[in-house]
Amino acid sequence: MTDAKDDIAERLKKVRGEIHDALGEAGRTPDSASLIAVSKQKPASAIRAAAAAGQVDFGENYLQEAIDKIRELEDLSLQWHFIGPIQSNKTRPIAEHFDWVHTIDRVRVAQRLNDQRPANRGPLQVLLQVNLQREETKSGIQPELLITLAETVAKMPALRLRGLMAIPQPEPNVDLQIAVFERLAQLRDTVNEELVDAKLSTKPMDVLSMGMTDDMRAAILAGSTHVRIGTAIFGARTS
Ligand SMILES: *Cc1c(COP(=O)(O)O)cnc(C)c1O
Repeated sequence: MTDAKDDIAERLKKVRGEIHDALGEAGRTPDSASLIAVSKQKPASAIRAAAAAGQVDFGENYLQEAIDKIRELEDLSLQWHFIGPIQSNKTRPIAEHFDWVHTIDRVRVAQRLNDQRPANRGPLQVLLQVNLQREETKSGIQPELLITLAETVAKMPALRLRGLMAIPQPEPNVDLQIAVFERLAQLRDTVNEELVDAKLSTKPMDVLSMGMTDDMRAAILAGSTHVRIGTAIFGARTS
């Protein structure tokens, strides 16, 4: 029996190999997609094991749990990505403890993160979450409202607008997975044109945060630059 630490290193290696293969299949350069290890509901020891195997970027969904782990792992130089839904009264600890936020979907949250970002931490790297399939219960901005939100966020000095994020519905068919992800890529191009035209950005959005354990290959084929992988690295979550 191998211990958990070896398991995590082994699984990370496998996921990195799959990312490499998908990038090759897409005709993209080998370093054009980053891996974010999603460590929600997993202990700090699991994160330490992944960090020992070279992983730097970690994604967390639940604020209190995340902050406990960030504090406990301060001795490692990790990059923390907030990928969960954001309540507007809980923005301060996100602004103080995270490097990236993937789930901005309204001005109020962006404004608070901007106002609460400590000056000594530099700008917060942010993505706008898009509700691509107009699901009633899901967070994310509706696609037709995206340009206005992007223009507003692009003007906020303590935020750096880096790209878009989406969580599509589970879909077994890879071609259909790709089709949905390609819509996010198109939206990014459209919004980038607007931002450049409005002189709000000379450096358009370069990030597409899309792809999880079950649709990672499709996301990379459609242009993902940041895949968010939990189960394939840390194993199934209990709840
Ligand atoms: C949990 C989660 C992931 C990782 O999902 P897996 O299927 O375990 O890879 C990625 N993104 C978000 C937003 C999540 O909440």
